[in-house]
Amino acid sequence: MIRPVQPWANKFEDVLGSLESSTQTGLTKSEASKRLKEFGTNSFKIEKRVSAFTRFTNQFKSPVIVILIIAAIITGSLGEFTDTIAIIVIVFINASIGYLQEAKAEKAIEALKNLSAPKAKVFRDGAIVEISASDVCLGDILMLEAGDYVPADARIIQANQLSADEAVLTGESMPTNKIVDELPVSTILAERRNMLFASTAVTTGTARAIVIATGMEGEIGRIAGLLDSAKMPITPLQERLEQVSKKLLYLSAGVVGIVAVLGFIHGVKPIDILMSAISLAVAAIPEGLPTVVTLALALAVRRMSKRNAIVRHLPAVETLGSTSVICTDKTGTLTTGKMKVREIFPNGDVDLELIKSSVLCSNASLNETGDATGDPTEVALLVLAKDSKTDLRKLNEQHPRLTEWSFDSNRKRMSVAVKDGEHVTIHTKGSPESILDLCILDASLLKNIQALIQDQSSQGRRLLAVASKRISNFDLDKFKNFDSVEFDLNYLGLVAIADPPRVETIPAIKACKELGIKIVMITGDHPVTAKAIAKELGIVEEGKFDGVMTGMDLDKLSPQELADKVDGIAVYARVSPEHKLKIIDAWQSKGNVVAMTGDGVNDAPALKKASIGISMGKGGTEVAKQASSMILTDDNFATIVSAVEEGRGIFGNIRRTIQYLLSGNLSEILIMLGAALAGWPAPLAPIQLLWINLVTDGLPSLALAAEPVSKNNLSSKLPSSKNFFDKHFYKEMALIGGVISIMALAIYGYMLKTSGELTARTYVFSFLVYSELFRSFACRSEEKTFFQMGLTSNVYHLVAVAFPIGFQITLHHTEYFQNVFKVEDLGWNECFVLILLTLIPVTILELKKLIKQRTVKNER
Ligand code: ADP
Ligand code: MG
Repeated sequence: MIRPVQPWANKFEDVLGSLESSTQTGLTKSEASKRLKEFGTNSFKIEKRVSAFTRFTNQFKSPVIVILIIAAIITGSLGEFTDTIAIIVIVFINASIGYLQEAKAEKAIEALKNLSAPKAKVFRDGAIVEISASDVCLGDILMLEAGDYVPADARIIQANQLSADEAVLTGESMPTNKIVDELPVSTILAERRNMLFASTAVTTGTARAIVIATGMEGEIGRIAGLLDSAKMPITPLQERLEQVSKKLLYLSAGVVGIVAVLGFIHGVKPIDILMSAISLAVAAIPEGLPTVVTLALALAVRRMSKRNAIVRHLPAVETLGSTSVICTDKTGTLTTGKMKVREIFPNGDVDLELIKSSVLCSNASLNETGDATGDPTEVALLVLAKDSKTDLRKLNEQHPRLTEWSFDSNRKRMSVAVKDGEHVTIHTKGSPESILDLCILDASLLKNIQALIQDQSSQGRRLLAVASKRISNFDLDKFKNFDSVEFDLNYLGLVAIADPPRVETIPAIKACKELGIKIVMITGDHPVTAKAIAKELGIVEEGKFDGVMTGMDLDKLSPQELADKVDGIAVYARVSPEHKLKIIDAWQSKGNVVAMTGDGVNDAPALKKASIGISMGKGGTEVAKQASSMILTDDNFATIVSAVEEGRGIFGNIRRTIQYLLSGNLSEILIMLGAALAGWPAPLAPIQLLWINLVTDGLPSLALAAEPVSKNNLSSKLPSSKNFFDKHFYKEMALIGGVISIMALAIYGYMLKTSGELTARTYVFSFLVYSELFRSFACRSEEKTFFQMGLTSNVYHLVAVAFPIGFQITLHHTEYFQNVFKVEDLGWNECFVLILLTLIPVTILELKKLIKQRTVKNER
């Protein structure tokens, strides 16, 4: 095999020869895998894999761990080996938890990358197969059509109306028309019209091409090689949390300083002060925040993929949670897309002609057993023809197609030229508005047809008009443009197709409304059809949200005028993809987070512009998928709603987890500060602080972040990263931190007086551990009590609490651990009292929820 140096200057046959491939069979599977091994996969980025060992050692770079290691060294040099060993063990447990969190998050994201990786169609062993674009190799024969991404640089072998958008490579925004013939050696990159380049998109037509360079060898790969990426993206929420973390860091440093100074004044040994300061710093630094967010997002992403939504970028999960408007396509998304012809209205007696034209002007296929592929609208036409005893195969064989002027959603029609004996016939079908103007019709007939259209549309039916004409001197070169043929057509009739709504749609729309999300339907269909269906689905609310606007009206409005009207318009009909941009703009200008669906090449700009671009996994083009931030594997509207619910839920999970962590930290700080102010000895030994930090920050917070999302714990308030820390958040944090620290200080003060220091510490220590663990039950929801949530609905959480409780009990009753943790055992009576006390904070939280539920109910 020899690699062609200047493939554009060679005949494609020569390129095929030197790469030892064939247009008939492509490469064999074994040859392809051999080449993949030899030349590497077809991808730009050289993924830097982090080994498990590096990831583990990376954990030791966190400031908390560094502080702990210093503490271990100090205690070691003082001969306090029990402390040293305990600290080292805690360091390792800490690092392991960090390691597990990170590994889990990364695995979830990795799995997603594979799911949303671009695909390519190639010839292998004589059959067309769809493979991952990264498996494309030198010499592969690519099969491309409009809407596909070109997976690798390739020399064109066959082209039909082919053009490609090469802006990424050449900066040229107009699509380039492509050809097969060889070009002069000196041709510059932008003019190598017989080549296709990786990462550009096919905008029209179809092609076969042979791959001449893959991965970093290609034109784009050479540019991409200069860029470095593959970093985990940071979401707005993570950014905000990092800011907050920093503030808290300074705050705790301040408190640590005060406690240290007070210690000095009270004559505490410097080494004890140092150890207390270190432990307090470790306890107070909220090191877990960004990781909790990443993990919660990654888990959400995994759950969403199980519910048929593939999120392509992590930050999208967050945006989904704050979505306030969903603009959705109708056909196939809100409806089943399983079209069926309900009635035909032939012009006069020509129903045979109507059916014949419909079949010939179609790209779908239907085999003997009734299996269909292609556009659902066209499949419906074929089924009609078959049911009326038309022999599809014979018809197509008798009238071989010469060329096609493809359907596009701007023109809303398509035409073909087929051989008809000596002559050539043009068959055209499309939306009635787009066809009737092109037909020769007298006024009275036109009036009848229009009345028919109105009547059928109001029943929610989609209409196609069909027309044809005969041409005697057909010449492909002269008739390149559709304008040159689509006029003076003979009107053949109308076909009425019904596309029933999906059953899941109606409840999903209701759920959206309950969450305060607006739904806007966007369709290429007739306004009357569109409104009829929107009504059936419950999108339109008569009197409140019932406007219908057509693409033509939309064109007349300035952006400002549209923005003024936009929140009254529920349905956009007869629109083109370009209109979607205007609609997004209008909603966004009013501060909304807009999700928009799309499937075609033309939808890509809108998908990028939307806050959340949603593409269709089944019916969508590769271009749309790569421009979107979420892919629906079932093309179903209800899936969008589940994803938004997950997004909402995740905001709640993160918020509650962080609240749990921070109020715990706050109470530890306040206890140490309070005791220092009162002139008491430190209420918590360093090892105890570390232990509390580990037990509560570690397991329960992970379980809280993983709380399954259900209608139970969704808030109807629209969340956003901006108001994540609102007044309510701080109030609750202050309340719970305050209650716990006052109780702990009271217990400590009382026990100091009545018993010794050891007993007092034992009490405070147990009180804090148990009250934190119990309190986590209340942190599973902001609105429901844990009895209402169901105790077993988050099993992780039960385990995450049971495990530390078990260990805590052991700790008090084993002599060895008593020494390590500087505690004594507790009698039954003391235990009983203590448990009652530790239940107070969680009870307060739960009672507050009950009271709130009461008042909300009364208000209704
Ligand atoms: P939607 O947004 O509902 O998917 P489209 O943009 O696909 O609408 O279609 C708009 C109109 O174009 C339809 O109402 C129909 O009249 C016409 N149409 C749809 N599919 C085809 C097709 N394959 N060939 C010709 N006309 C079509
Ligand atoms: Mg469509």
